Amino acid sequence: MPSFATEVKNELARLNYEQSCCRTAELAALLRMGATITFGLRRTFGLNFTTKNAAVARKTLQLLKSEGGNIRTEITVRRSRQLNKNNNYTVRVVPAPPVAELLEKLGFLQDESLNMTTDMALLKKACCRVAYLRGAFQGGGSVNRPEASYHLELVTGSYGLGNLLNTLLKRMGFPVGFTDRKEDYVVYLKEGDAVMDFLAMIQADEAVEAFEVARNVKEVREQVNRLVNCETANLQKTVDAAGRQLAYIKRLQEAAVKLPAKLRVTAEMRLKHPDASLSELADMLGVSKSGMNHRMRKLRELAEELPDG
Ligand SMILES: [Zn+2]
Repeated sequence: MPSFATEVKNELARLNYEQSCCRTAELAALLRMGATITFGLRRTFGLNFTTKNAAVARKTLQLLKSEGGNIRTEITVRRSRQLNKNNNYTVRVVPAPPVAELLEKLGFLQDESLNMTTDMALLKKACCRVAYLRGAFQGGGSVNRPEASYHLELVTGSYGLGNLLNTLLKRMGFPVGFTDRKEDYVVYLKEGDAVMDFLAMIQADEAVEAFEVARNVKEVREQVNRLVNCETANLQKTVDAAGRQLAYIKRLQEAAVKLPAKLRVTAEMRLKHPDASLSELADMLGVSKSGMNHRMRKLRELAEELPDG
């Protein structure tokens, strides 16, 4: 069974956008998360983008093609030797002179030097900022299954990129965290609403639906638990009250107190039905609940009047 994160990435990889500005922003984020720049002869550049997700590899290839230009791409699969381990897919942009233009457009190359830290030029429009985050999730994101604890993260080896993603999400009002883990930097969301808002924002509609279903199941389960707890508490109260009533009826018996008829039948009924609630006893004797309360209070007062011991 594929991980939930894989399912979300597959869903995102199927999306298509009209706007070329957003396609460029998404490609830039994908490449920043998972690509290295390669160098060819005569100062030419190329790219190697590696992912464990076939749909993301295809998406990257498709986005590279949509940039146009005369670039040559190849895709290679390295099958995992371990069972149940994902294959590695590498999208390669063969080093050639036209690649420099693409790298410039993506903001990786500025004034003939490499820029690996900031993409602010691509993030001027709101539509592109969302596309960029969608790309970042496909390139290095992960999210827990909604039935588990809420957690979504974007992982990158670059501090600059981690910082950029953190800032971007913070400005959008997300309660985002930023930390490091071994060699990596992790930007994460830990609240259910934030995780759902993020997925909704990047248009992972099926994932959002899965979260909503899981959340409903959780809520119903909590409601049932509350009801059961409430019933248990009421039951306990009945048992406690009956226990006290039995105690003073027994004291009255031991002291051989002669009770008026109404109180005597009440005491006998209580002794016969130690588990019954007060309303049940009232029904058995054909009196009102307040009448029953009154009789029990009387019995208690009589017992309390007895000398101790
Ligand atoms: Zn855009």
